[in-house]
Amino acid sequence: MIIVMRPHSSDAELDAVTALIASLKLAAHVSKGQERTVVGVVGAADDKDTLLAQFSQLDGVESVVPISRSYKLVSKEGRQARSVVQVREGISFGGRTLAICAGPCSVESREQLETAAAGVARAGANLLRGGAFKPRTSPYAFQGLGEEGLKLLRDAADRNGLAVVTEVLDPRDVELVVRYADMLQIGARNMQNFTLLREVGQARHPALLKRGIAATIEEWLMAAEYVFAAGNHQVVLCERGIRSYDTQTRNLLDISAVPVLRALTHLPVIVDPSHGTGVRALVLPMSLAGVAAGADGLLVEVHPNPAAARSDGPQSLTVSNFADLMSRLAPVAAAVERSLPTPALAVR
Ligand code: PEP
Ligand code: MN
Repeated sequence: MIIVMRPHSSDAELDAVTALIASLKLAAHVSKGQERTVVGVVGAADDKDTLLAQFSQLDGVESVVPISRSYKLVSKEGRQARSVVQVREGISFGGRTLAICAGPCSVESREQLETAAAGVARAGANLLRGGAFKPRTSPYAFQGLGEEGLKLLRDAADRNGLAVVTEVLDPRDVELVVRYADMLQIGARNMQNFTLLREVGQARHPALLKRGIAATIEEWLMAAEYVFAAGNHQVVLCERGIRSYDTQTRNLLDISAVPVLRALTHLPVIVDPSHGTGVRALVLPMSLAGVAAGADGLLVEVHPNPAAARSDGPQSLTVSNFADLMSRLAPVAAAVERSLPTPALAVR
C-alpha cells in the first residue's frame, strides 16, 4: 500500500503515519519528492480494509492506495495523472510538446560537438545528448573524454539553447555529472546497477532510465522504482531495444513497450531508434512509429560525419538526415495531438 501525503503536510503528520506503520509491525519507506511525500508500506497486513480506513483518517494524508505489486510509486495506481518531468523552463517530458534529444554517441571534440549541437538545435531538438563516459563492450575501445567532455557538452548546449542529457556510468561520478548536465542518463547496461539507481535517486536532476538489454518491462519499472523510492520523482523511461536472435538489426526495438508502459505507469516514455535498430536507414521510420505509438519524445544519435565517428557511426544520422526526420515527424506528431519543440534558437 502507498500513502500519499498532501503537498506541504507537516513533519508531525508524517511522523504520525510512520508511527502507526511501526505499531502494526510493518515497514515504512518514506520518499520525499520536491512536490510531495509518499510512504510505501511494506509487509503483509491482516485486514487491509481496516488499515486503509485507519490511514485515510490521519491528518495530512491525501490518499491511500492498496498495491501489492513490486513497484508501487511509479505505477498507475500510485498516481493517476501522467507525470510531466521538467528539465528546465520550456523543456519537459510528458507534456503536449515532444522532447527531442539529439547529438553524437560520444563527445569527441569541440568542433564535432559544436557542429552537431548547432545542427540539431536548428532542426528543432531541445536537448543535446552525447556521452562523456562511455560503456564500451571492449575495454580497449574509446571510453569517452570524461570531465573534458562534460565541459564541451555544457558549452555547446548553452551556445545553442539546448539542455544537456548525458550518461553517468559510475555512482562515484554522479556529483560530477550533475555539475554540468541537466539530466542524468542511466544506460541499458546499468539498468540494474542498484547502487547507481540509489545514487541518482538522491540527485535533484531528472533521470533518463534506459531499458536493460534483456530486461522485462516489469524489471525496468522496478529499476525506476529504486530511483523514485530514493526521492527522485523526475524519471523518464527510454525504450532502446532488447536482444533478439535476428541479426538484421542491432537490437529489437519494442515499440509495443510504449502503450504497455502507458497502461502501467505515469512516467513519461521516449524511444531511442538509434540503439534500437543500429541501422541509420531504420532510424526515421522507427522514430515516426515511436511517436505514433504515443512516445513522449525521441533520443537520436546525430554526428557531423558518421563515417568518422568514434562510436556508433553506422546508426548515426547526419545533421541533414536529422533535419529531414524532424520535418517528416511534424505531421505524425500532429496526428497524435503532439507538437514538436520550438527550435531553441528561435526562442532566444
Ligand atoms: C547511449 O545512449 O549512447 C548508450 C550507450 O545507450 P544504451 O545504454 O541504450 O546502449
Ligand atoms: Mn551510442
